[in-house]
Amino acid sequence: MPKFFVPPEQIYDDEIIILGDDARHISASLRMKTGDTLIVCNKNKRDYECIISSVENGIVKAEIVSSSVCGAEPAYNIRLYQCLPKGEKMEYIIQKAVELGISSIVPVYSSRCIAKPTQKGKDNRDKKTERYNKIAYEAAQQSGRGIVPVVYDCITLERAFAAAKGDALSFVCYENENGITVKNLFSSFDRAKNPSGTISFFVGPEGGFSKEEVLFASKLGIPSVSLGERILRTETASSFVLSALSYETEM
Ligand code: SAH
Repeated sequence: MPKFFVPPEQIYDDEIIILGDDARHISASLRMKTGDTLIVCNKNKRDYECIISSVENGIVKAEIVSSSVCGAEPAYNIRLYQCLPKGEKMEYIIQKAVELGISSIVPVYSSRCIAKPTQKGKDNRDKKTERYNKIAYEAAQQSGRGIVPVVYDCITLERAFAAAKGDALSFVCYENENGITVKNLFSSFDRAKNPSGTISFFVGPEGGFSKEEVLFASKLGIPSVSLGERILRTETASSFVLSALSYETEM
């Protein structure tokens, strides 16, 4: 069943109003009409099963049949700090991370990034941020998420480390780490002590992190971890971490 997200103010006791692009999509592309069913989510883990009651003038009205907590949300809050990859890879990374349960994504500019942060638009936001958030929205829709993960503007690695420092668990994925693996880290993490705390992790660009960057993080209390003996591409690493965490905690 198609899924759409609406802000809470469009959800009434027994009816939901869908506007804008989603309403156009429902009527023009999906050709849905009165009597068809869909799922609407309040972006806060609640799903409403609805029957369309009218499609008029770009506004879709749907009657609420039942509501339930969205079962697709992980019990943890997890943030990816992804160093800028080349080309279109960030779009792929965002899409996969959303499918695999990420809560938010922060693009990061580190010393070995070949790609440069995108220019700021008139609103002083990165020009690509809007597109990235659209990709996150569509991936959330497709994968039945109960929130729409946010993609933030790009920040420097230094700022990102400072932001992640206080999280319940944070780590840097580093292929030269020989001691601790992501499995060790996950199994030693006592989530009962931090049920709502954020887990955050860092993935380097194609050229990886420099030793200095990893050392800087460790001085802030952010350890580096190995994802195994194989070197993964930057666009693979976050999927590995998110899959491992899901296997560890959700299966
Ligand atoms: N240093 C290498 C590879 C970088 S891989 C080079 O110079 O080509 C890109 C990023 O993926 C790394 O910065 C790291 O964050 C992550 N990564 C890839 N394989 C990994 C592994 N086996 N363990 C931990 N992190 C890994």
